Amino acid sequence: DVKNLSIHFTQYTKGLHKRILPVIHHLDLDINRQEIMAVLGSSGSGKSLLAHAILGILPENSTVNGTIAYKGEQLTEEKKLLLRGKEIRFIPQSVTYLDPLMKIGKQVQLSISDKKEAQRLQEDIFSQYLLQPEVAELYPFELSGGMTRRVLIASAVIGDSTLIIADEPTPGLDKEALTEVLQCFTDLREKGKSILMITHDIEAAMDIADRIAIFYAGITIEIANKADFHGDGKQLRHPYTKALWRALPENGFHPIQGNQPSPLDGTTGCPFHPRCPFAKDLCREQLPEFQTAGNGKVRCHYYEELQENNNDFKN
Ligand code: SF4
Ligand code: MG
Repeated sequence: DVKNLSIHFTQYTKGLHKRILPVIHHLDLDINRQEIMAVLGSSGSGKSLLAHAILGILPENSTVNGTIAYKGEQLTEEKKLLLRGKEIRFIPQSVTYLDPLMKIGKQVQLSISDKKEAQRLQEDIFSQYLLQPEVAELYPFELSGGMTRRVLIASAVIGDSTLIIADEPTPGLDKEALTEVLQCFTDLREKGKSILMITHDIEAAMDIADRIAIFYAGITIEIANKADFHGDGKQLRHPYTKALWRALPENGFHPIQGNQPSPLDGTTGCPFHPRCPFAKDLCREQLPEFQTAGNGKVRCHYYEELQENNNDFKN
């Protein structure tokens, strides 16, 4: 349960001038047991930093404010260290997390201390993830893209875990590998695990997530149910989420004008106001509250009005 999380980095320039770089402003997110929560946002929206904050692996020059609770208990840095790699697992974005000089079998076993048990669990997980036993003897460079992904997932879910955080698990996969990876996640949910899937792939999110949180410029702007993304899109509340929906091929491929501001730009008010066709003066001045709306949450001053009047985009 992440509440009002903000992160800034402190940098010292050549003349030892201190610079504060705010990268995340107001992130809110919660995830339930046996749920797939997708975090959707374009690059620079703060998705990976959220994962690193939960895991306690942010760089030293970062400062975190706000709260992160797990099973009702506040997560301190010490607690994160105890949970990381055990109850809370991470599937990293980059395949470079694999050690190029270590055989796959050994890498997958790393988080299990008992050697015999590790071997047994590894064989077990290999068969679950359709990895041939011979793969254990290979090195990372010998794997295909889809296989590498499955190895990363297998390393993350071997043994007991409760919460799995996957950072961009789908880019660069062909259709078959993508289907396999998404199936892995739904299987994990079946087994009672919670999955936080960070992605910019709206279709993958719509495919398997129970709920979808939308990040924009380091701020959570909406949490919606998967069902709200299917159908006519009218249940979506935030204009940016609606714009994402309208950009899907099946919904007309409408481009979203403009660019997401950097969290460093110091945009005041609603971060979407420079691009929002419904922006008014208040939007430029005041950041909307993150309010409960129906079965979701939204951060827009005028969402009710927009929904009632069915205030559709013009193009
Ligand atoms: Fe648009 Fe204003 Fe809502 Fe922001 S708060 S999304 S600018 S209407
Ligand atoms: Mg990222």
